[in-house]
Amino acid sequence: MAETTTTRKRVLSGMRPTGKLHLGNYMGALKNWVGLQDKYECYFFIADLHALTTDYADPSGIKQNTLDVTLDFLAAGLDPEKSVIFVQSHVPQHAELFALFSMFTPLGWLERVPTYKDQQEQLKEKDLNTYGFLGYPLLMSADILLYQPKFVPVGLDQTAHVEVTREIARRFNGIYRHVQQVDWRSLTDAQKESLRKEGREIVPNATYAFYPAEVLPEPDVLLTPSPKLPGTDGRKMSKSYGNTILLSESEADIRAKLKTMVTDPARVRRTDAGNPEVCPVGDLHKVFSSDETRLKVWEGCTTAGIGCIECKSWVADGVIAELRPIQERRKKYEANPGLVTEILAAGKEKAAARAEQTMTEVRAAMGLS
Ligand code: SF4
Repeated sequence: MAETTTTRKRVLSGMRPTGKLHLGNYMGALKNWVGLQDKYECYFFIADLHALTTDYADPSGIKQNTLDVTLDFLAAGLDPEKSVIFVQSHVPQHAELFALFSMFTPLGWLERVPTYKDQQEQLKEKDLNTYGFLGYPLLMSADILLYQPKFVPVGLDQTAHVEVTREIARRFNGIYRHVQQVDWRSLTDAQKESLRKEGREIVPNATYAFYPAEVLPEPDVLLTPSPKLPGTDGRKMSKSYGNTILLSESEADIRAKLKTMVTDPARVRRTDAGNPEVCPVGDLHKVFSSDETRLKVWEGCTTAGIGCIECKSWVADGVIAELRPIQERRKKYEANPGLVTEILAAGKEKAAARAEQTMTEVRAAMGLS
């Protein structure tokens, strides 16, 4: 039976340790997560087992990348006093539930996941004909369902991931309807009410038995805003394009990178008018600049009143101002690696305790002792 220690709804999300995080990771996910902490019971993790699904042949970077992502989580404002922050492989129940899910999941479900073929195409240099890579949606489902969250915060383009998880939960609940017996007469009215609210079905005519309606509740998507955030080459900011601005990037490097950012291609000469609506720098102004600066840009660009170098220096000011508190927090944690280790150890304890509650039910439902 799921125990709730808080009346707040639970939320869970994670990130693969791909190295230091960039502005796209921050604006697309991390900043939203920071905002969720006061409203929900939050679990955030670094998905190092997922890194192995594609980097199994050379895992040398995973440890450092995991540390870097942890530092960026904390720097961005994830607060260990409010959220459970942990590393996926530190909680062995993830691997256990992944193994159990693999017993009843039809192969066709996994082969049909669109990202399976896409990623194999994109990562041609790696041999991804492995069971681990095919099964990564099951690992992701285990990551989520272990904690029985009400919501998984994702952007619009990731809702399919949560749908796979919901399908796995439905299949599990369809096959394994775990029956539990308790002495109904020994429960207080408050306990009976709480069981009814959880949707537990009371067996008719029995004075002392009930069974849970389902072992693994299906999570819902919590759609989070993710503004358009181009990288320095105008394409979506992504590590694989090499067009990122890191959260930990120095002020000088941020200015240098933005100075060479692509602009409205129609604005060839300084005397040509441009259009910030089609310029990637304009997209950054929409996210990082004040109303006053945006007004100057839109007026100056469309009348050739300002130059692109000037315009880019203003957007750099906005980016640097956004990153300043993040970088200050990062320095604090970098200077105190013992504190980071303690935070992850405490996160592991809390996450493992919650995960074990689910596994106790799952093992029983699947006939394991
Ligand atoms: S002035 Fe700014 S918005 Fe206009 S084209 Fe140049 S960089 Fe883009």
